Amino acid sequence: MTNRTFKSGERRDQAKLLPARIEDYVGSDNPVRAIESFVCALDLAKLGFRHADRGAEAMGQPPYDPADLLKLYLYGYINQVRSSRRLEREACRNLELIWLMKNLRPGYRTIANFRKENWKALQAVNRGFVLLARELGLVGGAVVAIDGSFFHGDASKASIFTRRRLAEQVARLDQEIEAYGKSLEDNDAAEARQPRNDGHDDGGGDGADIGAKVAALMARRSRAQADLDRLEASGETQLSVTDPDARLLVKGGQGVAGYNVQAVVDDKHKLIVASEVVNDSSDVNQLHAMAKAATEALEAESLQVLADAGYYSSTELKACEDDGIVAYVPPPEGNGQVEKQDRFSLKNFSYDTAADAYRCPAGELLRPMPGRWPNTSGRVEFRYASRSAICKTCQLRARCLSPKASRRTIGRWEHQDVLERHRARMQSADADKLMRRRSAIVEHPFGTLKLSALPRSWLQQGTWRMEPDGALLQLHPRAQYPRLRALRCLHGGKDAFFA
Ligand code: SF4
Repeated sequence: MTNRTFKSGERRDQAKLLPARIEDYVGSDNPVRAIESFVCALDLAKLGFRHADRGAEAMGQPPYDPADLLKLYLYGYINQVRSSRRLEREACRNLELIWLMKNLRPGYRTIANFRKENWKALQAVNRGFVLLARELGLVGGAVVAIDGSFFHGDASKASIFTRRRLAEQVARLDQEIEAYGKSLEDNDAAEARQPRNDGHDDGGGDGADIGAKVAALMARRSRAQADLDRLEASGETQLSVTDPDARLLVKGGQGVAGYNVQAVVDDKHKLIVASEVVNDSSDVNQLHAMAKAATEALEAESLQVLADAGYYSSTELKACEDDGIVAYVPPPEGNGQVEKQDRFSLKNFSYDTAADAYRCPAGELLRPMPGRWPNTSGRVEFRYASRSAICKTCQLRARCLSPKASRRTIGRWEHQDVLERHRARMQSADADKLMRRRSAIVEHPFGTLKLSALPRSWLQQGTWRMEPDGALLQLHPRAQYPRLRALRCLHGGKDAFFA
């Protein structure tokens, strides 16, 4: 037995007769082996990767094989290594990456350019991953839930201007310039009143300081005015100085400078099957586009789609029905003001399909008027009207008509039958059960993404797309850095990729 104070490591300069193989660096069940298998099974040339079909060339340095860079990229996703510089470092010191990359050590520019030059091919890889998940039976393909969540962009709230904010800024600068102008005048007047002292300079002092401040304010004002002109010319409602696509998004009194990430989640294993990044606070126009994207990704002939009341839109529901998508979206409750005033709302009038007329609470019919009427939201309506002579003597008149109205008119959307079928569907027992499941399905990946996989904000500027497998791809042409992939979290902590 030797007398040693502590355990001691090997001498660094000790030469070895049989050095450990790189193959010994990772175990047989290490997840990096799945990345290796997945990438090796892909036809990278067919997917559109640059240099994938390159032949041997005699001259110059050969480029990195896109398969190796794709492995590095996927490893970064799975392990939340976000930046190309960190990936470069990890490739030198991380045994798993040394194994995966066979000790290749690409520089951060190579890594960044790979993502930038191959973003379409990377999207194709993501689609391939969804197909793999389907083949493995991890996607149900019958019921999906849609929801949106705000993600911080690479922009602060202060860097995003609305027209009102810019107009207020210009007005405030005008006031300050005017105040300083007045100070200049007062200063000049005070100097004129004082007798000249030949021993002192009378050309500088406060007047010169104020002049410089006025010039600075004028410059700021002209910048603000130019921003305002630019915003008005663009037809946008907001101007983002740092990240041109980020917007101030507000929901439930909470504001975020960033993006609204839409996701469609399959209910079997909470996998995201379709996604999109928009910069609109409202979800109201997203239902059909997201449901259609999910239908295509799943190649489903019919799909039940669940969404919250923020997605309720008559035109979106009509588009879903036209595409065979069965949507469950609770109709908005309304503020109940009419009911509180004990007056009749539309709910008190029933439509009689056979008679093509509405029946009022007094039992009288409202008959169709000639013509078609576009309403304020662009929908075409038919109008139905009661008879003035009957309303004049009606006991319920005070609860039905405004003081100046002589009869009641009701607008009916030309595709109102779509909404009636939807309402009937929402009153079924199935709808109740499905809507209770909705938040459990779709909140799951968002919660995991925000808590575990993603940091508070994205590094990149510009519009992003979250691919069905959770990969975030930037659509901005100046995109430079490889993106992270939240693969593990998207599979609910159980990594389907490695199933
Ligand atoms: S006022 Fe006219 S429309 Fe209203 S309940 Fe009476 S009869 Fe019907």
